Amino acid sequence: MWNLLRAIVRPEDKSSPLPDTWQQILKVNVPYRNSLSVEMRERLDAGIRRFVEHKYWEGCNGLSVTDEHRLTIAGHAMRLTLGFDDDHFDDVKSILLYPTTYRAVTKDHIGSGVIIEGQSDRLGEAWYRGPVILAWSDIQDEIAQSPSKRNVILHEFAHQLDFRNGRDADGVPPIESETDAERWLDVMRQGFERLCDDCRHRRRPVLDCYGTTNRAEFFAVATEAFFETPEDLKRDWPELHAELRRFFRQDP
Ligand SMILES: [Zn+2]
Repeated sequence: MWNLLRAIVRPEDKSSPLPDTWQQILKVNVPYRNSLSVEMRERLDAGIRRFVEHKYWEGCNGLSVTDEHRLTIAGHAMRLTLGFDDDHFDDVKSILLYPTTYRAVTKDHIGSGVIIEGQSDRLGEAWYRGPVILAWSDIQDEIAQSPSKRNVILHEFAHQLDFRNGRDADGVPPIESETDAERWLDVMRQGFERLCDDCRHRRRPVLDCYGTTNRAEFFAVATEAFFETPEDLKRDWPELHAELRRFFRQDP
Protein backbone atom coordinates (compact mmCIF):
# COMPACT_ATOMS: atom_id res chain seq x y z
CA MET A 1 0.00 0.00 0.00
CA TRP A 2 2.79 2.40 0.91
CA ASN A 3 4.51 1.74 -2.41
CA LEU A 4 1.26 2.37 -4.22
CA LEU A 5 0.78 5.67 -2.37
CA ARG A 6 4.32 6.74 -3.19
CA ALA A 7 3.72 5.94 -6.83
CA ILE A 8 0.63 8.15 -6.80
CA VAL A 9 2.23 11.00 -4.87
CA ARG A 10 5.45 11.05 -6.92
CA PRO A 11 4.54 10.43 -10.54
CA GLU A 12 7.48 12.67 -11.55
CA ASP A 13 10.09 10.35 -10.03
CA LYS A 14 11.12 8.63 -13.22
CA SER A 15 10.88 11.41 -15.74
CA SER A 16 11.60 14.84 -14.30
CA PRO A 17 15.26 15.83 -14.34
CA LEU A 18 17.06 16.46 -11.08
CA PRO A 19 17.41 20.13 -10.05
CA ASP A 20 20.44 21.90 -11.58
CA THR A 21 22.05 22.39 -8.18
CA TRP A 22 21.84 18.63 -7.59
CA GLN A 23 23.30 17.89 -11.01
CA GLN A 24 26.25 20.21 -10.34
CA ILE A 25 27.06 18.33 -7.13
CA LEU A 26 26.77 14.95 -8.83
CA LYS A 27 29.00 16.09 -11.69
CA VAL A 28 31.88 16.63 -9.27
CA ASN A 29 31.29 14.05 -6.54
CA VAL A 30 29.78 11.19 -8.56
CA PRO A 31 31.91 11.38 -11.72
CA TYR A 32 30.97 8.00 -13.21
CA ARG A 33 27.46 9.42 -13.78
CA ASN A 34 28.90 11.76 -16.45
CA SER A 35 29.80 8.83 -18.71
CA LEU A 36 26.51 6.92 -18.47
CA SER A 37 24.12 6.67 -21.41
CA VAL A 38 21.05 8.92 -21.24
CA GLU A 39 18.86 5.94 -20.39
CA MET A 40 21.13 4.74 -17.58
CA ARG A 41 21.53 8.25 -16.20
CA GLU A 42 17.74 8.65 -16.00
CA ARG A 43 17.52 5.33 -14.23
CA LEU A 44 20.26 6.35 -11.81
CA ASP A 45 18.71 9.77 -11.17
CA ALA A 46 15.34 8.22 -10.34
CA GLY A 47 17.13 5.96 -7.84
CA ILE A 48 19.08 8.87 -6.36
CA ARG A 49 15.91 10.92 -5.90
CA ARG A 50 14.18 8.00 -4.20
CA PHE A 51 17.18 7.31 -1.97
CA VAL A 52 17.61 10.97 -0.94
CA GLU A 53 13.93 11.49 -0.19
CA HIS A 54 13.05 8.20 1.48
CA LYS A 55 15.99 7.61 3.84
CA TYR A 56 16.25 9.15 7.27
CA TRP A 57 19.44 11.24 7.37
CA GLU A 58 21.13 12.07 10.63
CA GLY A 59 24.26 14.15 11.17
CA CYS A 60 26.38 13.16 14.17
CA ASN A 61 29.03 15.01 16.21
CA GLY A 62 27.67 18.39 15.11
CA LEU A 63 27.45 17.70 11.38
CA SER A 64 24.44 19.19 9.56
CA VAL A 65 23.50 16.98 6.64
CA THR A 66 23.42 18.89 3.33
CA ASP A 67 22.36 18.09 -0.23
CA GLU A 68 26.02 17.42 -1.05
CA HIS A 69 26.21 14.72 1.62
CA ARG A 70 22.92 13.09 0.61
CA LEU A 71 23.57 13.18 -3.14
CA THR A 72 27.13 11.89 -2.90
CA ILE A 73 26.15 8.92 -0.76
CA ALA A 74 23.04 8.18 -2.82
CA GLY A 75 24.97 8.52 -6.11
CA HIS A 76 27.60 5.95 -5.15
CA ALA A 77 25.24 3.56 -3.35
CA MET A 78 22.77 3.44 -6.24
CA ARG A 79 25.57 2.48 -8.63
CA LEU A 80 25.45 -1.02 -7.16
CA THR A 81 21.81 -1.43 -8.13
CA LEU A 82 21.85 -0.03 -11.67
CA GLY A 83 21.49 -3.53 -13.12
CA PHE A 84 18.67 -4.58 -10.78
CA ASP A 85 14.96 -4.00 -11.26
CA ASP A 86 13.89 -3.49 -7.66
CA ASP A 87 15.12 -1.42 -4.72
CA HIS A 88 17.83 -3.52 -3.05
CA PHE A 89 18.31 -1.07 -0.17
CA ASP A 90 14.76 -0.84 1.13
CA ASP A 91 15.93 -2.40 4.42
CA VAL A 92 18.33 0.50 4.97
CA LYS A 93 16.07 3.07 6.57
CA SER A 94 18.67 5.53 7.81
CA ILE A 95 22.11 6.93 7.09
CA LEU A 96 24.17 8.33 9.97
CA LEU A 97 26.98 10.62 8.96
CA TYR A 98 29.96 11.72 11.07
CA PRO A 99 32.24 14.60 10.02
CA THR A 100 35.40 12.50 10.46
CA THR A 101 36.46 9.03 11.49
CA TYR A 102 34.70 8.58 14.79
CA ARG A 103 35.56 6.94 18.06
CA ALA A 104 33.23 4.24 19.32
CA VAL A 105 31.76 4.93 22.74
CA THR A 106 30.45 1.44 23.43
CA LYS A 107 30.68 -2.03 22.01
CA ASP A 108 27.44 -3.24 23.56
CA HIS A 109 24.97 -5.19 21.41
CA ILE A 110 27.56 -6.04 18.80
CA GLY A 111 27.10 -9.53 17.44
CA SER A 112 25.89 -10.98 14.17
CA GLY A 113 24.15 -8.48 11.93
CA VAL A 114 26.73 -5.76 12.48
CA ILE A 115 29.89 -5.05 10.49
CA ILE A 116 32.28 -2.47 11.84
CA GLU A 117 35.28 -1.19 9.91
CA GLY A 118 38.31 -0.33 12.03
CA GLN A 119 38.85 -0.91 15.74
CA SER A 120 38.24 2.01 18.12
CA ASP A 121 38.49 4.64 15.33
CA ARG A 122 35.74 3.67 12.95
CA LEU A 123 35.52 4.27 9.22
CA GLY A 124 32.03 2.94 8.74
CA GLU A 125 29.44 0.44 9.83
CA ALA A 126 26.66 -1.59 8.25
CA TRP A 127 23.85 -3.00 10.39
CA TYR A 128 21.47 -5.77 9.36
CA ARG A 129 18.12 -4.14 8.60
CA GLY A 130 19.55 -1.05 10.26
CA PRO A 131 21.59 2.01 9.43
CA VAL A 132 24.69 2.55 7.42
CA ILE A 133 27.14 4.77 9.29
CA LEU A 134 29.79 6.74 7.40
CA ALA A 135 32.47 9.40 7.97
CA TRP A 136 32.37 12.31 5.52
CA SER A 137 36.12 13.05 5.64
CA ASP A 138 36.88 9.55 4.34
CA ILE A 139 34.34 9.91 1.56
CA GLN A 140 35.92 13.24 0.54
CA ASP A 141 39.45 11.79 0.57
CA GLU A 142 38.38 8.85 -1.57
CA ILE A 143 36.60 11.06 -4.11
CA ALA A 144 39.75 13.21 -4.37
CA GLN A 145 41.90 10.12 -4.98
CA SER A 146 39.44 8.36 -7.31
CA PRO A 147 39.91 6.08 -9.09
CA SER A 148 41.52 4.14 -6.29
CA LYS A 149 40.74 0.80 -4.72
CA ARG A 150 38.84 2.40 -1.82
CA ASN A 151 35.23 3.58 -1.80
CA VAL A 152 33.67 3.27 1.64
CA ILE A 153 30.15 3.92 0.32
CA LEU A 154 30.34 1.03 -2.15
CA HIS A 155 31.93 -1.04 0.60
CA GLU A 156 29.21 -0.55 3.23
CA PHE A 157 26.40 -0.99 0.72
CA ALA A 158 28.00 -4.21 -0.56
CA HIS A 159 27.60 -5.45 3.03
CA GLN A 160 23.94 -4.43 2.85
CA LEU A 161 23.52 -6.59 -0.28
CA ASP A 162 25.17 -9.42 1.66
CA PHE A 163 22.65 -8.91 4.51
CA ARG A 164 19.72 -9.41 2.15
CA ASN A 165 19.67 -13.16 2.80
CA GLY A 166 20.35 -13.11 6.54
CA ARG A 167 22.01 -11.33 9.41
CA ASP A 168 25.26 -13.28 9.15
CA ALA A 169 27.22 -11.59 6.38
CA ASP A 170 29.26 -14.30 4.68
CA GLY A 171 30.16 -12.80 1.34
CA VAL A 172 27.25 -14.56 -0.38
CA PRO A 173 24.41 -12.20 -1.30
CA PRO A 174 21.17 -13.68 -2.72
CA ILE A 175 22.02 -15.62 -5.88
CA GLU A 176 19.36 -16.83 -8.27
CA SER A 177 20.20 -20.44 -9.06
CA GLU A 178 22.03 -23.26 -7.37
CA THR A 179 24.50 -23.52 -10.26
CA ASP A 180 25.27 -19.81 -10.03
CA ALA A 181 25.68 -20.06 -6.26
CA GLU A 182 28.11 -22.96 -6.58
CA ARG A 183 30.19 -21.08 -9.12
CA TRP A 184 30.10 -17.95 -6.91
CA LEU A 185 31.36 -19.91 -3.90
CA ASP A 186 34.17 -21.42 -5.98
CA VAL A 187 35.34 -18.11 -7.45
CA MET A 188 35.12 -16.29 -4.13
CA ARG A 189 36.97 -19.04 -2.24
CA GLN A 190 39.78 -19.07 -4.79
CA GLY A 191 39.91 -15.28 -4.82
CA PHE A 192 40.01 -15.07 -1.04
CA GLU A 193 42.84 -17.60 -0.82
CA ARG A 194 44.79 -15.82 -3.54
CA LEU A 195 44.36 -12.43 -1.85
CA CYS A 196 45.56 -13.86 1.47
CA ASP A 197 48.62 -15.25 -0.31
CA ASP A 198 49.31 -12.03 -2.25
CA CYS A 199 49.01 -9.89 0.86
CA ARG A 200 51.14 -12.25 2.92
CA HIS A 201 53.90 -11.95 0.29
CA ARG A 202 53.37 -8.17 -0.13
CA ARG A 203 52.57 -8.47 -3.85
CA ARG A 204 50.39 -5.30 -3.84
CA PRO A 205 47.25 -6.77 -5.42
CA VAL A 206 44.51 -4.70 -7.09
CA LEU A 207 42.24 -5.65 -4.18
CA ASP A 208 42.66 -4.03 -0.78
CA CYS A 209 44.27 -6.42 1.74
CA TYR A 210 41.46 -5.56 4.16
CA GLY A 211 39.59 -8.21 2.15
CA THR A 212 41.64 -10.91 3.88
CA THR A 213 39.68 -10.24 7.12
CA ASN A 214 36.93 -12.69 6.13
CA ARG A 215 34.67 -13.62 3.19
CA ALA A 216 32.26 -10.73 3.81
CA GLU A 217 35.10 -8.22 3.61
CA PHE A 218 36.46 -9.97 0.53
CA PHE A 219 33.13 -9.45 -1.26
CA ALA A 220 33.05 -5.79 -0.14
CA VAL A 221 36.60 -4.95 -1.34
CA ALA A 222 36.05 -6.91 -4.58
CA THR A 223 32.94 -4.76 -5.14
CA GLU A 224 34.99 -1.59 -4.59
CA ALA A 225 37.58 -2.74 -7.15
CA PHE A 226 34.91 -3.86 -9.64
CA PHE A 227 33.43 -0.36 -9.77
CA GLU A 228 36.48 1.80 -9.05
CA THR A 229 39.26 0.06 -11.01
CA PRO A 230 37.41 -2.37 -13.31
CA GLU A 231 40.13 -2.58 -15.95
CA ASP A 232 42.78 -3.52 -13.40
CA LEU A 233 40.46 -6.11 -11.90
CA LYS A 234 39.61 -7.57 -15.30
CA ARG A 235 43.31 -7.82 -16.21
CA ASP A 236 44.53 -9.37 -12.94
CA TRP A 237 41.43 -11.23 -11.69
CA PRO A 238 39.38 -12.13 -14.81
CA GLU A 239 37.25 -14.84 -13.16
CA LEU A 240 36.35 -12.60 -10.24
CA HIS A 241 35.56 -9.72 -12.60
CA ALA A 242 33.30 -11.96 -14.71
CA GLU A 243 31.50 -13.27 -11.62
CA LEU A 244 30.82 -9.75 -10.33
CA ARG A 245 29.70 -8.63 -13.78
CA ARG A 246 27.14 -11.45 -13.83
CA PHE A 247 25.97 -10.67 -10.30
CA PHE A 248 25.66 -6.90 -10.69
CA ARG A 249 24.27 -7.26 -14.23
CA GLN A 250 26.46 -4.43 -15.47
CA ASP A 251 29.98 -3.85 -16.76
CA PRO A 252 31.54 -0.64 -15.44
ZN1 LIG B 1 33.55 -4.11 5.61
